[in-house]
Amino acid sequence: MSEARRTLARVSRPLVAASSGAAVLVRSAKRFAGETPIGRKRRARKMAKVLAETHPDAHCELDFETPLQLAVATILSAQCTDKKVNEVTPTVFARYRTAADYAAADRAQLEEILRPTGFFRAKTDSLIKLGQALLERHDGELPGTLDQLVALPGIGRKTANVILGNAFDVPGITVDTHFRRLVNRFGWVQEEDPVKIEFLVADLIEKRDWTMLSHRVIFHGRRVCHARKPACGACALATMCPSYGTGPTEAAPAAKLLKGPRARELAAQAGIDPGLVPAAAVVAPEAP
Ligand code: SF4
Repeated sequence: MSEARRTLARVSRPLVAASSGAAVLVRSAKRFAGETPIGRKRRARKMAKVLAETHPDAHCELDFETPLQLAVATILSAQCTDKKVNEVTPTVFARYRTAADYAAADRAQLEEILRPTGFFRAKTDSLIKLGQALLERHDGELPGTLDQLVALPGIGRKTANVILGNAFDVPGITVDTHFRRLVNRFGWVQEEDPVKIEFLVADLIEKRDWTMLSHRVIFHGRRVCHARKPACGACALATMCPSYGTGPTEAAPAAKLLKGPRARELAAQAGIDPGLVPAAAVVAPEAP
């Protein structure tokens, strides 16, 4: 059940008094309750277009130059911010240039380098095994298909789609925690399983847009539609979102929730005064 529908069910109980925020959310959810599959597809594509206009700077935030480097960075990004990964990878990439370098890595040395990224023992293990598997199965090169990638140690479907979309130009949908939360809030899916979400969204959005859509949805999740308090009153998707009202809908409190270097532009795109965005929001570091 989507977040909007869950809230609708919750606040519809007769003994529960609806707050004004919850009442807005109920109205928003009701507006889309009878939506047909074709209506949902049309709305999803319109929202994807607005997201493209809202986040023209969306991109893969992991630094890399080769497919192997992206695979390594993506493995390191588990339970770690992209910013922290980008601080560590210059050292990693300088010392380990090929699959053979990872395969032959001194475990203690690599663990020490990876320590700041968390889960460093498991990540070291994955990188050494990845190097060995690439040497054994693919002449030391990273393969460019989903099936071959997910068969490698340390690479799940999410990582494989990141690699395909950003290193091989093969369209891929990356279902991370932001993507999962947002597409449920958008009412595109009512599903928590990442693989099912991937297939459902693939059916709504044209294939050529999958990779960039993933970046844009993730940017929206980091900058506007936060997990605990989304900036609904400062969101360019508000009129198309059945979860409008999950966060504050008044301009001033919503503007305070915007984050990232383009927070003022985001406010303007949502039709509210950019001056309402506090300076701290603009310079605040990106959330994980
Ligand atoms: S921030 Fe935007 S996308 Fe997120 S719930 Fe609110 S209106 Fe919907």
